[in-house]
Amino acid sequence: RGDVQEPVIPFAQPGSRTRVYAVASGKGGVGKSSVTVNLAAALAAKGLKVGVVDADIYGHSVPRMLGADGRPTQVESMIMPPSAHGVKVISIGMFTPGNAAVVWRGPMLHRALQQFLADVYWGDLDVLLLDLPPGTGDVAISLAQLLPSAEILVVTTPQAAAAEVAERAGSIALQTHQRIVGVVENMSWLELPDGQRMEVFGSGGGAQVAESLSRAVGAKVPVLGQIPLDTRLREGGDAGLPLVLSDPSAPAAAALITVADRL
Ligand code: ADP
Repeated sequence: RGDVQEPVIPFAQPGSRTRVYAVASGKGGVGKSSVTVNLAAALAAKGLKVGVVDADIYGHSVPRMLGADGRPTQVESMIMPPSAHGVKVISIGMFTPGNAAVVWRGPMLHRALQQFLADVYWGDLDVLLLDLPPGTGDVAISLAQLLPSAEILVVTTPQAAAAEVAERAGSIALQTHQRIVGVVENMSWLELPDGQRMEVFGSGGGAQVAESLSRAVGAKVPVLGQIPLDTRLREGGDAGLPLVLSDPSAPAAAALITVADRL
């Protein structure tokens, strides 16, 4: 049968005004989800219509970090996403009991991502953020096929080893001809009570990734921000209240808001 239709992804249609950013990292634990959630909340706080797809099958921590504890509901053929802080969110974790998702293979992930993009009622979004799994995996390739216009935002720590894997994650955009919008360096330093900056994870990783990706794509890839370590950023994630909302003037929050402004 040749009449099976591919689902229509509104963001991939000509004339779609939604900007799509895929947040990528080389490895887990660098704060990719924390950055995604805070950027989403900051953009929504500016009055933009924002959605987040949590495609990180290993982590799927976005709903908790956003405080989106509602369940998706079905209305006719559409999935209505829960929302929190003005951000619509859908997560692979909402459809998989326990950790079943981690055994998923490429084709199932591709289908899931396709459904999230085509069958979820997003409405007329200004910005869609996708929290990708760490590394250069199947999901990144699927996304490039489903949504070639998605731009890549790379998150790294200052550590050289982390930066090298982040470069590899970013360089997938070369093969897929996607634009790299910039690099966010997270966990850049810890401010000590005397005002000194302790560089817990070293320094230079963000600049290193940006330079290497700039060389590779032949265009300037900027470092969009450096986010310091802040216990309250983690606490905000645990409590479902992003720091950019609870204390926008905290240095980590201010840095994230600046990144959101530069997107
Ligand atoms: P990833 O999505 O890359 O796996 P997460 O966003 O889950 O990383 O972050 C890993 C852990 O580090 C979480 O507990 C998170 O709260 C914490 N974290 C992330 N960024 C910061 C930061 N700048 N300061 C303090 N804790 C952070």
